[in-house]
Amino acid sequence: MSTTKVYLDNAATTPLAPEVAEAMIPVLKQHFGNPSSTHTFGREVRGIVETSRRKIAQLLNVTPGEIIFTSGGTEADNMALRCSVEDLGVRHIITSSIEHHAVLHTAQVVCKEQIRLNLVKLDEKGHVDLAHLEELLQTEEKTLVSLMHANNEVGTLLPLEKVGNLCKQYGAYFHSDTVQTMAHYQFDLANLPVDFVTCSAHKFHGPKGIGFLYLNKNIQLKPFIHGGSQERNRRGGTENVYGIVGLAKALELALTDVEEHQKHVQDLKSYMIDELEKAIPGVEFNGDAKGNSLYTVLNVSFPKHPKSSMLLFQLDLFGIAVSGGSACSSGSNQGSHVLMGLNRDMERPSVRFSFSRYNTKAEVDYAVEKLKQLFLN
Ligand code: PLP
Repeated sequence: MSTTKVYLDNAATTPLAPEVAEAMIPVLKQHFGNPSSTHTFGREVRGIVETSRRKIAQLLNVTPGEIIFTSGGTEADNMALRCSVEDLGVRHIITSSIEHHAVLHTAQVVCKEQIRLNLVKLDEKGHVDLAHLEELLQTEEKTLVSLMHANNEVGTLLPLEKVGNLCKQYGAYFHSDTVQTMAHYQFDLANLPVDFVTCSAHKFHGPKGIGFLYLNKNIQLKPFIHGGSQERNRRGGTENVYGIVGLAKALELALTDVEEHQKHVQDLKSYMIDELEKAIPGVEFNGDAKGNSLYTVLNVSFPKHPKSSMLLFQLDLFGIAVSGGSACSSGSNQGSHVLMGLNRDMERPSVRFSFSRYNTKAEVDYAVEKLKQLFLN
């Protein structure tokens, strides 16, 4: 086992930023009141929750009431799809075969009797066929389009504004899973044609178990979780106060120097592409690595090789943490529904390297060196 540890699996989760931990500690240690209590202890914590909500709203140019805290991205995606059907009368969902399972499985579950499900066509890099989307939108039924902003396995980016405008033109609701892009790009949600977007704090150096659904103020939803009247009666349950504080701090930190972070991470990705192309003949990239792609994700398709069947395991022995697809299929790329959806050659081993602002060029050099060792010997 190597003593070196290189973490290149930031699309699965990211390390907590020290500043975020610091912001959370006073809430963990001192501010324990229930925000729904009307006494001083409760009112103080209510203030902390609402200050965090206002900070998030300000960073994204929305009103605080448009932010509904959830337990993370999965719950927020479920809420957008389920509430569209149950509260907004949606009878037709358009999505794609490479969405995260939080969307895909939810769509399959809600699209039972009398609710149609259509999958939009994609090209081999994962870009949506906009002409096909427009064709699917030509229907009398109330429609929800759910398409992710960036694919979590291959990084392909959706033209959010174009898709949103198309949805508007045809009177469809638009949900975009922005779990991989929130805090990685600056969003001006008041001026984006979206109805719902989703966020998960642990993808940008915040804590796990907290996220939110942004819900455009023109949309009224009934409670998604029944219980207390928290989150303006849309999601019952005592708030995850320290998580909310951590989320707000992580978002603020990420967006304060977002251009600098983007440049640093994009440089690492481009450098790794160049170094791999020089080092390993026959290497290819899944998705649109050199084009319209999320700068944190690089999905590499390696040539078939006798040692390649245990690639993730071998990299782990060298102390390199990567993934074969989404976190839930870590350890194997068998059955990646995204790579299969893009008709990739499943015999070639694919590895997702995903970077954060804490990664360095030296770590990329180490990973390329070990890959060279595996493939050229
Ligand atoms: N959507 C996408 C695109 C993701 O990558 C993930 C996490 O892997 C999720 C949703 C789920 O988020 P969470 O882990 O907060 O439930």
